[in-house]
Amino acid sequence: MERPIDFSRGRYLLCGQCGRRWVVDLDWIDRWEQAREFCPGCGVTCEVATAPRVTVDPDDPALADEVVAELVWYHTSTQSDWPKHDFNPAAELTQETRLRMGGDHHVAAWAERQRAKALHVGTYEAAIHNMLRRIDHQADHGSQFYLYRVRLVPSITVREGWLIDPSDFVGDVVLGEVCPPGVDVARYLNYHEDPGALSLALGRSAIASTQQIAIPSLSGDDSGWADVAVDELELAAATSPSPAGSRPTWGRGTASPKRGRARELAAPLAQRLPVNLRRQFEAAAAFDDSQQPEAWARYVVGLMSLLLTPQRVLAELDRETGRGL
Ligand SMILES: [Zn+2]
Repeated sequence: MERPIDFSRGRYLLCGQCGRRWVVDLDWIDRWEQAREFCPGCGVTCEVATAPRVTVDPDDPALADEVVAELVWYHTSTQSDWPKHDFNPAAELTQETRLRMGGDHHVAAWAERQRAKALHVGTYEAAIHNMLRRIDHQADHGSQFYLYRVRLVPSITVREGWLIDPSDFVGDVVLGEVCPPGVDVARYLNYHEDPGALSLALGRSAIASTQQIAIPSLSGDDSGWADVAVDELELAAATSPSPAGSRPTWGRGTASPKRGRARELAAPLAQRLPVNLRRQFEAAAAFDDSQQPEAWARYVVGLMSLLLTPQRVLAELDRETGRGL
């Protein structure tokens, strides 16, 4: 069962000070995070420890235990075969790294901890938001990402209630700590990615099948934006004076003419997005001088399609054969 996708929907806030619960839009949350809004119940700002935070929507279908396995869930990853069957996190370590980690014994213990980590799935919005955050914060710019639609094993046992966003306090979640024996899936409240939505921490055995597409896989209807953008980038390169020397070299942090123009071209697109996605979209849409303008423009249009016309993305997923686990 698919849920409606709406990156801009209202969010529930719950005040830890006075207990008021109410709905706000994302612009309100943006002002709130800058201490420019107050709790309407008690007047606190975000600077107080007990200040309001996003909370679950009481009508979220994922709150019903029996519905969790009926819903489809999403995940984004740079792995083309997520979740890996024989996941060996130590396989890619160099000998130097192994030595720095303290030798084989320590590497084996580390690998075991990595394998014990929970997998995460969430709403479509949370999966896309997670990818944008990784590109923005974790140097995944230029990485190939994949979008997964996940179907769960119908007979799974869901942990009662929900936990608060585990990434808020531990980063990675050890499966056994959130899913005790007999429990397959634990719900948790997202604070950052699709704030207020419920995600799941789970083990591989709770997943029945996945469908996967590369991101971005399709070109959206951009009303000619890509053609204009390519022309503009070529023009920017042709009309700017080259630095001394025969080959222009643009260091990191220096805006090449193409990079600067690309930023200007992407800025109005970002303004069409919900406020909590704009900065991350701009980071993802940054031009890299090793890119071809056409490839860049196609990528940007594809990103916009993920955010503005998700129905096209779902239709693309529908055409993919599922992979049973
Ligand atoms: Zn309050």
